[in-house]
This record gives sequence, structure tokens and C-alpha cells, in this order.
Amino acid sequence: MRQPLVAGNWKMNGSIENIKELLDGIKQGIKQGIKQGIIEYGLDKGNSVEIVVCPPSIYLAEVHSQIKDSAISLGAQNVSDQASGAFTGENSVSMLKDYGCKYSIIGHSERRTLYAETDQFIAKKFAVVCEAQLIPIFCIGELLEEREAGKTEDIVSRQIDAVLDVVDISAFKNSVIAYEPVWAIGTGKTATPDQAQEVHAFIRKKLSDLDADTGAQVQILYGGSMNASNAEELLGMPDIDGGLIGGASLKPTDFLAICNAANATVNEKESLV
Ligand code: PEP
Repeated sequence: MRQPLVAGNWKMNGSIENIKELLDGIKQGIKQGIKQGIIEYGLDKGNSVEIVVCPPSIYLAEVHSQIKDSAISLGAQNVSDQASGAFTGENSVSMLKDYGCKYSIIGHSERRTLYAETDQFIAKKFAVVCEAQLIPIFCIGELLEEREAGKTEDIVSRQIDAVLDVVDISAFKNSVIAYEPVWAIGTGKTATPDQAQEVHAFIRKKLSDLDADTGAQVQILYGGSMNASNAEELLGMPDIDGGLIGGASLKPTDFLAICNAANATVNEKESLV
């Protein structure tokens, strides 16, 4: 049984003041849920959901200190492909580790489209992140015109193949893939559960064909306008193991509702095993 994971990508939002509010809200919600015995959170709580927050890099240290004694894990939104040196504005894997990051998002569609990050550049970051024993949250997904042209599988295959050119298939065992159809990110348009499941199953099969264990173990998240109302249906699909959440991760009640939906679906999925 794969553990569900819900990661909040705060993007370039927040301030010292509202980060505290947001984290207090999430921590409070977690405590309440545990007290009521409805939910159990955290890595050592069996298959219950792992919650990750990915703040802007300037706030990693602050968030790290605020989540120290909680069940929340920390992720970065991006990382350099280089170890150190003259790379103005970049943060290395060792810097992320210094501030307790367990994860780093790589290849987010905003990095691909707004900052011209290529499949090969992202693949290099994937290798660097794995080598440092951080866990990549590797984002892939098609543009609207690519979906309309029936190219979704070709696109996600190409994005994965670029990574497989530089790492062994086994690297995916301890990695997270986020399938994020670009047309659904920040638009309010969500893939239907069937549309998302179809691509998730395709990705899992692609990896399973190369190594059955890797395919079975890799966590595949859905991202693209997931919110408190559509989460349960999406997360209930057999190959959707969690969510990468943008807008809804900035509101503690919405974010917690998605985490609770992930917990609820785990029990349903377990009963089917
Ligand atoms: C994202 O940025 O990864 C994302 C899924 O955003 P949103 O949930 O706002 O669509």
C-alpha cells in the first residue's frame, strides 16, 4: 500500500506574518483530528497521509523552525543543478538539507514555461536531488493543445525518458511524480478523475514495464486545481496517491480538507487490497 502524500506548493506567496497564521492553522487542524481519533498524521502513523509544505526559499528557515515538532515535512519549490559556486540566485541541495528539506519540487510547469527549463536540465536536477538523498517531486504534464492533439502520453513519456537517460529506473522507487496537466494549473479547470486516472495508470505501467517493484512503489500525485470539493473523488482513484496543491494550500481549512480526503481514501483503498 502506497502512503498518500499531500504537498502544498505556496509558489511566490506569503509573508512572515501570514506564514505563521497558515502553519498555526494546519497544526491546529492536525491536533484536532488526532484528538478526535478521526485521523492520524505523519510518517510513523502507518499509511496515513504525509503532509508537506513547500514555501518560497527565503522562508525555508522560518518554516523549518515552526514545524520542528509537528508531523509536517518540508520541501523546496526548486533547486540548483550545481553543488556550489558562482550561480547567483540559486540554492543547492546541501543548502536545502541544512534547513531540513526532505523534498524538492523539480520541473514545475511554471519553471518549464516561464524560465525555459528543458527536460534535460530538469533531468540533471533529478539526478542531483536523488544523489543528495532528497526526494524529488518531479512534475510532468501536457499543455492544452497537446492534450487536444492526443499527445498526452507522448509528452509525459518524453519527460520521464529524459530522466531515465541520466538515472537508473530504481531511482524512481524513492521519488514522487506529480502529474500536472498544465491546462489545469491555477485555472480552476480540473482533470476529471477518469482523465487523471488514465494518465496515472499510463505512467505507472511505463515504469512497471521497466521494473515492476518501482512501478508499484512510486507515489504519483495529481496536481491542477485540486480543492476541498473535488479532492475525495480524485484521490479515490486507484493510481492517484496524493496531490500537489497550489491555490488551495494557502487556506488551512481547504488544505486540511484535502489531507483528510487522502486519509479517507486510504482506508477505502486498503479495504480493496
Ligand atoms: C501547482 O502549482 O502545482 C498547482 C497544482 O496549482 P493549483 O492547485 O493552484 O492549480
